[in-house]
Amino acid sequence: HKGLMAGKKGLIMGVANNHSLAWGIAQALHEHGAEIAFTYQGEALGKRVIPLAESLGSDTVLECDVTNDASMDAVFAALKEKWGKIDFFVHAIGFSDKTQLRGNFSDTTRDNFNMTMEISCFSFITLAKRAADLMTDGGSMVTLTYYGAERVIPHYNVMGVAKAGLEAATRYLAVEMGKRNIRVNALSAGPIKTLAASGIGDFRYILKWNEYHSPLKRNVTIDDVGGSALYLLSDLGAGVSGETHHVDAGYHVVGMKAEDAPDI
Ligand code: NAD
Repeated sequence: HKGLMAGKKGLIMGVANNHSLAWGIAQALHEHGAEIAFTYQGEALGKRVIPLAESLGSDTVLECDVTNDASMDAVFAALKEKWGKIDFFVHAIGFSDKTQLRGNFSDTTRDNFNMTMEISCFSFITLAKRAADLMTDGGSMVTLTYYGAERVIPHYNVMGVAKAGLEAATRYLAVEMGKRNIRVNALSAGPIKTLAASGIGDFRYILKWNEYHSPLKRNVTIDDVGGSALYLLSDLGAGVSGETHHVDAGYHVVGMKAEDAPDI
């Protein structure tokens, strides 16, 4: 079954290090023959991302901050120059001030609300537009979301609201872009220890809770996320658009604390 991405070229945004969800996706796509361009946010992360990208044979690793239109334009101009078109796009970007990923939700400040929404929700909309302009033979896009969009998860707070917006944006983009044979989906990943996740209050408790209460009695890995992204970004997912697909060991179907769960 190798080679599901043979001949396909695209962009992955959101690798910070080898624990990133985007890195799990990159490895799965690379194993199946994809050619991948990467972006990184700022020089410090570049030091980690450039060698990772090179290890997958990528020679296109560009700096991009999604709060800066010129830096986003430059990325897509470079891709147009290099490949002329792309086939896939992965958006694995989110951010909120960590002082507000704990405590009371209603203490969210205007500035942090706006920043969280801009980086975690609006960026997907504006990047999807740019990516679609290069998907002249159709294509597939995936963003990363979390169950805190659908149900209240302690400490997730304003990020839950941003993810709810991101999931709605996925549906609106899917309808708008469907006529160009571009599919747009969201992967709702279970909790995984990453740089971004370390900002969330009591994250270890969330990990334990999911391990004890999910149907599979375990947490998911970035390889699990990579496998599901491969399905959505390759032609295996050809009939799927507008979906929020859970890669969470089944946690989202559970309605009650498991009887056999240990105390945390
Ligand atoms: P991560 O820290 O590895 O990745 C987050 C990425 O966002 C980093 O690469 C960072 O550089 C990028 N980013 C933040 N602000 C940016 C900006 N202004 N411009 C450009 N890039 C910016 O952590 P991760 O957990 O792999 O996060 C990737 C995505 O997965 C996020 O959307 C996150 O919400 C989502 N997600 C994570 C989990 C989890 O438990 N880790 C679960 C579900 C969804």
